[in-house]
Amino acid sequence: MRNLFIVLCLFLSSFVCADVILDCPDSADPGGVFRVLIVSEDPVGELYVQLLPEDSEQIVARAYGFPLAPAEGKYMVTALLGVPSTVEEGRYILDARYSINGGIDFRKQGVTVHKKDFKSEQISLNGAMSTLRQSDEPEKREESRELTELLYQFNIDAIYHDSEIIVPVEEVRITSFYGDRRTFRYSDVRTSSSIHNGIDFAGVRGTEVHACGAGRVVMAKERILTGLTAVVEHLPGVYSLYFHMDTLSVEPGQMVATGELLGTIGSTGLVTGPHLHWEMRISGIPVDPYIFVEEAIIDKDHILSIITP
Ligand SMILES: [Zn+2]
Repeated sequence: MRNLFIVLCLFLSSFVCADVILDCPDSADPGGVFRVLIVSEDPVGELYVQLLPEDSEQIVARAYGFPLAPAEGKYMVTALLGVPSTVEEGRYILDARYSINGGIDFRKQGVTVHKKDFKSEQISLNGAMSTLRQSDEPEKREESRELTELLYQFNIDAIYHDSEIIVPVEEVRITSFYGDRRTFRYSDVRTSSSIHNGIDFAGVRGTEVHACGAGRVVMAKERILTGLTAVVEHLPGVYSLYFHMDTLSVEPGQMVATGELLGTIGSTGLVTGPHLHWEMRISGIPVDPYIFVEEAIIDKDHILSIITP
């Protein structure tokens, strides 16, 4: 019965929602983002977007949307869909579903994910760091669960920063890049591999670390692997993370402005020297932070060009 109702809603909505526009770029890189916009003269409710290969039902990324202020008599919801660095090049379907006029409607668009080669790096760990990374203590698992849960929180009212972000350190010397394929060499000659989800900036201990954008501090604490850690929420599902700091200047719940002091560079947690690890997450997916240094998180000029008659 419920299925029949949904089918009926989809059937009716295809008639009453003829004015709906799906706006989304044609392509993105792994580590990039698809900015999805739904525009309608009717109020649009919840938006859910998923990305799947043209020839498969295997979802490779998903995101929820949040409303933007109506303008030019149009209602809008937007979703930021992060493309994981592991997504292979090829053709994909971007499938957007949203509620409208008491029903559920959808729009689909074919998109391309480009090929991108990430760097490889080898990191040798001493005995202490090997033990730290390999140990499987309950506290580590609990810290991992806590951070994951936090990064998947989607607070629809968390609208703090939608323009470009800044690089959190003044003197920029990058030692590891987003998406680097890493091989850790342990002191007992064993190895393991992982993907680097952020950017590492080398710097002397005590160098200031600034918030890359305005937001709410949702974590400021010491963790086993990431040392003194700060996490700032900027938009629903959009978070910046700062690891291995020497000092922390903020507390959970505190609002920060762009450029406000979060702490200083250090070598706490799993490190081979003092540096800042900076990371951006969208709906839990790590993306290349420099995307938002170069382009606003929400492109208001582009949105205006879509809705202006
Ligand atoms: Zn790092």
